[in-house]
Amino acid sequence: MTAPGSTAGNSAASRDKAFVLHPYTNLDVHETQGPMIIERGEGVRVFDDGGKDYIEGMASLWCVSLGWGEERLVQAATKQMRQLSSYHIFGHKSHEPGIDLAERLIGLAPVPMSKVFFANSGSEANDTAIKLIWYYNNALGRPEKKKILSRQRAYHGVTVATASLTGLPNNHRDFDLPIARIIHGDCPHHYRNALEGESEEAFATRLAEQLEALILAEGPDTIAAMFAEPIMGAGGVVVPPATYFAKIQPVLKKYDILLVADEVICGFGRTGSFWGSQTMGMQPDILTCAKQLSSGYLPISAVMVSDAVYRACVDESRKIGTFGHGYTYSAHPVAAAVALETLKIYEERDIVGHVRAVAPAFQNRLKALAEHPLVGEARGTGLIGAVELVADKATKAPFDPVGRAGALVNGLSQENGLIVRAMGDSIALCPPLVISEAEIHETFDRLTKALDAAVPVLR
Ligand code: PLP
Repeated sequence: MTAPGSTAGNSAASRDKAFVLHPYTNLDVHETQGPMIIERGEGVRVFDDGGKDYIEGMASLWCVSLGWGEERLVQAATKQMRQLSSYHIFGHKSHEPGIDLAERLIGLAPVPMSKVFFANSGSEANDTAIKLIWYYNNALGRPEKKKILSRQRAYHGVTVATASLTGLPNNHRDFDLPIARIIHGDCPHHYRNALEGESEEAFATRLAEQLEALILAEGPDTIAAMFAEPIMGAGGVVVPPATYFAKIQPVLKKYDILLVADEVICGFGRTGSFWGSQTMGMQPDILTCAKQLSSGYLPISAVMVSDAVYRACVDESRKIGTFGHGYTYSAHPVAAAVALETLKIYEERDIVGHVRAVAPAFQNRLKALAEHPLVGEARGTGLIGAVELVADKATKAPFDPVGRAGALVNGLSQENGLIVRAMGDSIALCPPLVISEAEIHETFDRLTKALDAAVPVLR
């Protein structure tokens, strides 16, 4: 690993500090600390520039489902590069990789969907969904029905509109966000937000009642849609309470509010069903996905829309002319070919079956950490989970300042050869879906060592 603070003249680390503006990084700390340089990957592991191996407990950023070095994806990209390395689908043009992928996704959708729009990232997919929703309501002659509901601690991206949907303070502070017409409702986190003694079901009932009260206060005719991750990821891996979506969906239906399932993390087997919507009982009108769509090998995302949404957009386009939205790389043929091959591999290797087979080991080890002296809650489903570190288990009091304990365990995990992600004081795990049971045990052995090492520092 590159020595922190290394300034060796022309080293990669010093050139990094000289030239790279890092996303989601403390820029001030980075100027002295410098980067950790990852050189290669193999299976569920990555290796730094000193040759040290790490289990990638986050599958990079919740995306490398098939692990590193999947030769079939290399071949799919190479073949498509040779045949048609780049092309667009604007103005009635098309190509087979894009067509095949759209057809495949519609076939896999958790509820009947009509069309697929392609973009390059989760943020772009969600940004597109917002624009489609506004376009749809203009088509229906409802110019006032434009507000979008999101939730505290939601993560939907970083564009101006999707960072506004994101319900995390750092995504708004000093970026002059959120924009108008975005409303953040309650976070469905039972451990933090339920009343003393309130069951999951009673909490879900209360959340649905509070959602209805919010809609009535804002005016139902002004609210167009609600975005929801089936399980919140970057907000700290929040699994909603039992019956949550069963209770909030009728409220949305009652006021003709569309539901957008943000499947950017949960899609493609992560939760033990093909879609998080299936695990959580969501029936979305629009579904966005990215990341594991291509096993993170190339940037590609998709927005699936119901026929009702699509038809209204066609009506609007009939009025206006061209549907004025699209990215240069929408349905990029090489990214589409890699995504198609990824979906084929998921089917051939029964990736959902594999997740179901190994998830009990993952969840048992995760939930056992609830007994650790630093852990207030261990939560998760399928192959995603988090432990929340607390200063006092009895009162659930957080560490002060929030984030210090998370950063410490993050660093200690790395020392122990495990990459995790600290979100505040929640430590997330979201390994490649191909992880074996033995690798799951190795992951938790390393995390437990890190937690144990943190005890004397924090207590
Ligand atoms: N939606 C969810 C649920 C995500 O977790 C993310 C990224 O982590 C996004 C959207 C944004 O995706 P991207 O970083 O590809 O723009």
